[in-house]
Amino acid sequence: MVLSFALGAFAVVPPEVWARGPDICLWKHLFGLAACPACGSTRALAAFFHGHLAQALAYNRNVMVTGPMLIGLLTQDVISGIMKLWEK
Ligand SMILES: [Zn+2]
Repeated sequence: MVLSFALGAFAVVPPEVWARGPDICLWKHLFGLAACPACGSTRALAAFFHGHLAQALAYNRNVMVTGPMLIGLLTQDVISGIMKLWEK
């Protein structure tokens, strides 16, 4: 359920809106780093779920793994939900 809401938020809210939000990178704030390997992931996932793949890769290349993985997890969740309905 939480995953569905998160993916829904990525699909509905454009990456430009996410980019205007606060910088929530813990590593930047704790250690004063310029960026960490996860920086830009939220914007990248929003761009990915809007179908802007080049923009998604520009924000964070990890989206090549996390985007399809989230689609797989959501698909698995939907299938298991349907199977539970059939078992009743
Ligand atoms: Zn970061």
